Amino acid sequence: MRVVVTGGAGFIGSHLTEYLLSLGHEVIVLDDFSTGTARNLRALSANPRLTVVPGSVCDATIVETCLAGADAVYHLAAAVGVFTILDRTLESLRTNLTGTETVLAAASRAGARMLLASTSEIYGKNTAMGLREEDDRIIGSPLKNRWSYAEAKALDETFAHLYAVEKGLRTVIVRLFNTVGPRQTGRYGMVVPRFVDQALAGKPLTVFGTGQQSRCFCHVLDVVPALVALLEDERAHGTVFNLGNPEPVTIEELAHRVLVRTGSPAGIVRVPYEQAYGPGYEDMERRVPDCTKAKQAIGFQPARGLDDILDGVLADRTAAVPR
Ligand code: UDP
Repeated sequence: MRVVVTGGAGFIGSHLTEYLLSLGHEVIVLDDFSTGTARNLRALSANPRLTVVPGSVCDATIVETCLAGADAVYHLAAAVGVFTILDRTLESLRTNLTGTETVLAAASRAGARMLLASTSEIYGKNTAMGLREEDDRIIGSPLKNRWSYAEAKALDETFAHLYAVEKGLRTVIVRLFNTVGPRQTGRYGMVVPRFVDQALAGKPLTVFGTGQQSRCFCHVLDVVPALVALLEDERAHGTVFNLGNPEPVTIEELAHRVLVRTGSPAGIVRVPYEQAYGPGYEDMERRVPDCTKAKQAIGFQPARGLDDILDGVLADRTAAVPR
């Protein structure tokens, strides 16, 4: 098959590209290298079935060219990371809205099936123990920058849904719950690589707020095969799936686990949200997925726990090649 991965030089995208190549597919990566890096694809660069196209998903001509003759597209390209969204809110909003509609339109013209990478962020402040796909969204003011990411991704889902309903596009939407693992950078805010990098540098781990907020971290290698299995399964088309690990951990506990795993004596420092993200920031207290639907559809069952994740990130960080 000929498969396009937008954002294929990013953290999840590069793992997905590697997996698709291992299945024997021809892969075209479209990436603007804003947060993705060539380094993520370096190990694959000699593969003759890989083509890397530098460019934006907002550029209709380039998207159209990449999708010509494609069987499938995985749309992962997006402005990601809380710091990115807060620092460049308008640009991020445009990328996440225009980029998705551009890819949907091109997929529709090419007759390619399309997976949209959405996010658990769309549930907002809903703290249900086990968020289900049909649960309500509880979102703060649209004038608070943080929520613009959730708003854009929710509209992306609506776009994808309408392309499926009105144009017959075969789509799958996945909501990813804090996917982590090797190659993820902490530069844009993600807590696991930030804590590991801080510990390795002997700096105190920056726990924002009380540290009692919790998240569920899922290893990227548990997520990637599920993306492919869902898009390959016709019964999954036209619908949405949560993908994550149901085991919650508080951010404070995460910090302690990182300190133990790295053997760092640096300790933790508490940073008020206002100082970390600026005034008016609202965090989510808890975000736990219910993945029953993905389990029933494709047998989705994450195999890796938090210690596997931390060991993987640690090994990545201490490898010979500096990030
Ligand atoms: N966080 C933290 N210290 C950091 C970076 C993040 O305490 O250096 C917190 C952040 O406030 C949030 C959690 O860790 O409560 C997860 O943050 P991340 O940006 O990784 O993901 P998201 O907020 O999108 O779930």
